[in-house]
Amino acid sequence: MEKERNEAEILMEELGFEKKHFSKAYSDEEIAKADAFCEGYKVFLREGKTERECVDFVLERVIKEGFTEFDSKKKYVAGDKVYMNVKGKSVILAVMGKKGVSEGARIVAAHIDSPRLDLKPTPLYEDSELAYFKTHYYGGIKKYQWVTIPLALHGIVYTADGTAVKVSIGEKDDEPKFVINDILPHLGAEQSKRTLSDGIRGEELNILIGSRPFRSDKGSNLVKLNVLRLLNEKYGIKEKDFISAELEMVPAFPVSDIGFDRSLIGAYGHDDRVCAYPAVEAIIDCAAPERTTVTVLADKEEVGSDGNTGLHSAFLEYFIHDLADMEGLRGRDVLRMSQCLSADVNAGYDPNFPSVHDKYNCCAVNYGAVITKYTGSRGKSSTNDASAEFMSTIRTILDNANVSWQIGELGKVDEGGGGTVAKYVANLGVDVVDLGVPVLSMHAPWETVSKFDVYSTYRACYEFFRAE
Ligand code: MN
Ligand code: MN
Repeated sequence: MEKERNEAEILMEELGFEKKHFSKAYSDEEIAKADAFCEGYKVFLREGKTERECVDFVLERVIKEGFTEFDSKKKYVAGDKVYMNVKGKSVILAVMGKKGVSEGARIVAAHIDSPRLDLKPTPLYEDSELAYFKTHYYGGIKKYQWVTIPLALHGIVYTADGTAVKVSIGEKDDEPKFVINDILPHLGAEQSKRTLSDGIRGEELNILIGSRPFRSDKGSNLVKLNVLRLLNEKYGIKEKDFISAELEMVPAFPVSDIGFDRSLIGAYGHDDRVCAYPAVEAIIDCAAPERTTVTVLADKEEVGSDGNTGLHSAFLEYFIHDLADMEGLRGRDVLRMSQCLSADVNAGYDPNFPSVHDKYNCCAVNYGAVITKYTGSRGKSSTNDASAEFMSTIRTILDNANVSWQIGELGKVDEGGGGTVAKYVANLGVDVVDLGVPVLSMHAPWETVSKFDVYSTYRACYEFFRAE
């Protein structure tokens, strides 16, 4: 028998707002759907460990679904599906709506680059009969987390004759891994006096890649030479070719369920593939949208969205202009009417480290997709602060479709902060708000997310696309 509720409880339910754990609001059937959805996500995580690999994976996926390469001179009709490959590192997908872009486009923007260690332009050297790669870290990392973990090498190298060579080594069980070594605790007394952020320094992130010399009585740097020989055998590359390469060292950890209940996923690169994958699946599944839908997966977010594959550049703006031109509209008018979910992660509340969060305004794993009204730092510096009007639009869309969502802020005021692509899209005149998945250990080599939150983010993207 349900206990009778008193007046205060009834009134609180009527007037109050409390975020709800998904298990209180969704059936086992819905939870099973979330788990099934995440199996596809896990494949994406395994296949896409760099922005280029994500683009390749997504293109293969959408071409199977009938997407064709965008041609700005062509005439499209409602339901037509297109993609635009932006230099192999970003990609735009679009489905033409029944209303076209006459009332604006609906855009979901996620990013597919993740923090990692890039090889320097001349990375290879030998010291004390050990061969190393020098690296330059990419994005915000806690450097001490990247030592003594298995690393894999991914990327692309152009040889002298312009041939592109794709590299991926260290992912399969029988492939070698790479590693950055650390000082043993027995001799770590001086290192321990360094601050945590200084514990491992940028120039100490040197990756061990070989130790056997080329057999010869003469010559120096024979371990380096042996590595060069092996690289030449396997990939046909020479030392100078590193200059025309983009090679990234990433964690070689598996993608795994976490917990006895398998409710969570551990992987490298959740930020922000955990929003990219839902954004792709949502645009595929929403086959006949009212307004033209656009999924953009961008590169360079982790370094500030600069460069011609980042969203600070004009590739998305020009794409919308092209859509507008086709319908005899002006790009700037379409942008003004357009709406965007900046699909990116937020920091989930971690009970191990409660002090950095405002418990009244942080997000938590298993409470659904998190809407982040503003990001930035200090006094909302560098933020797109979503308008009350757009917040109203989004909450109505999500509530009408019974999507699990919550509100989140990235940490306490003055604790730090961060940004997303939201402001760059907003600067075009588009209404934007951040929405995505709460992450534990964000930017670590192995991050944690909840399966139900991933699925809720997919549902949020889908309902946003589907809305009139
Ligand atoms: Mn992100
Ligand atoms: Mn990030």
